[in-house]
Amino acid sequence: MLYLSNIVKKQFIKKTKQAKIRRETNMEIYKEFRFEAAHFLPKVPEGHPCKNIHGHSYRVKLHIKGALNPEIGWIMDFTTIKEIFAPILTQLDHALLNNIEGLSNPTCEHLAIWIWNQVKPNLSILSKVEVQETASSGCIYEGE
Ligand SMILES: [Zn+2]
Repeated sequence: MLYLSNIVKKQFIKKTKQAKIRRETNMEIYKEFRFEAAHFLPKVPEGHPCKNIHGHSYRVKLHIKGALNPEIGWIMDFTTIKEIFAPILTQLDHALLNNIEGLSNPTCEHLAIWIWNQVKPNLSILSKVEVQETASSGCIYEGE
């Protein structure tokens, strides 16, 4: 009887630990980057201000969703995200976005998709790309 009770107790503890791990892994981390760039939107109607070349101080947030490493206590090293994004950031910073291949119509939405397509092959647990164009305008892309 006591033996059975210990088994039940052990199973209960194991299930509780598993539930705790599951709860802890339901989280995202993110890393934010900033860059300055110029663009114009060729497809907006004549007279629209975005038809003219202008600049933005862009903010990009890469969200990563994955299992929490129980030993080290993180999902992944923020530095790794920085290293993966570094060449992309170099390409975007102080550029005329329209000149970058795939960004001939660099709306906030297209930029978010473009960044996703650049990052995702090197960061499979990427879950979301946020692009903020102004203090009050932005786009969130979660892939297809
Ligand atoms: Zn703009």
